[in-house]
Amino acid sequence: MEIRKAKTQGFCFGVAITLKKAEEAVADSENGTVTTLGHIVHNPQMVKSFEEKGLVNAHNVDDVEAGTLFVRAHGLPVEVFEKASAKGLSIVDATCPMVTKIHVQAEKLRADGYKIVVVGDPNHPEVKGTLSHVPGAWIVQAPQDVDALPRASRVGVVVQSTWSGAGFTAIVQKLSSKYYEVRAVNTICTDTHNRQNEAEALAQEVEVMVVVGGKTSANTKHLADLAATRGARSYHIEGPEELLPQWFDGVAVAGLMSGASTPGWLVDRVEAQMEALSRRAS
Ligand code: SF4
Repeated sequence: MEIRKAKTQGFCFGVAITLKKAEEAVADSENGTVTTLGHIVHNPQMVKSFEEKGLVNAHNVDDVEAGTLFVRAHGLPVEVFEKASAKGLSIVDATCPMVTKIHVQAEKLRADGYKIVVVGDPNHPEVKGTLSHVPGAWIVQAPQDVDALPRASRVGVVVQSTWSGAGFTAIVQKLSSKYYEVRAVNTICTDTHNRQNEAEALAQEVEVMVVVGGKTSANTKHLADLAATRGARSYHIEGPEELLPQWFDGVAVAGLMSGASTPGWLVDRVEAQMEALSRRAS
């Protein structure tokens, strides 16, 4: 079986920066206990490795008594930064620059008089952070959500960094049919955009697509869904132990790609296991 790997593999630059800053923070004993709100990245292997290095995970800033609050690539709501400062916590801010750009674009649109629409999952931490910069913004996940939105003359749109490009386009089209003026800024990050394009192209060349990444990773899930819509039998896995031999029965060409928070070494292990399964079948 031939295995075709997508060009973009391993961590995106935002996750790589976050992990480097987290390594430095936990290594610096002057920081006291270093706490993240939620897992450092959507990847169970990396979460475990950082837990072993002493990184603590909390659900709420109210639960952090002292030391350092480490802000993940997703960012945090403005009020959480304020609370952490008021409590005297040190803050290491590793918000991805592409996420900060979304906050800036949304604030700019609001300052220009647009009613803000955020396209994304309201339960995703990145979106919660964005909404805190533009309180009262409307949140939309699908074109049909637009029907229920109130009247406005001008709407300004930003989108979750890891959203699907096709999903964003469909929502902007629907908004354009309802509102007089729509100004949409495509804030899907370059890494997500590249991986989605590669998923579409590769899925048309292979029979089976394996996508490696945390089950809670939005961008990994979108890649697996996208590959499936382009005709590949698609599997979203977190590690090589989930691969089943029967997935590759009679398969001549399989594809392999990963989400933005998946380490390169994990993709290599999955590739090695796919090769082993293929050798066993032949
Ligand atoms: S997926 Fe994009 S926005 Fe998210 S951390 Fe990576 S580069 Fe930044």
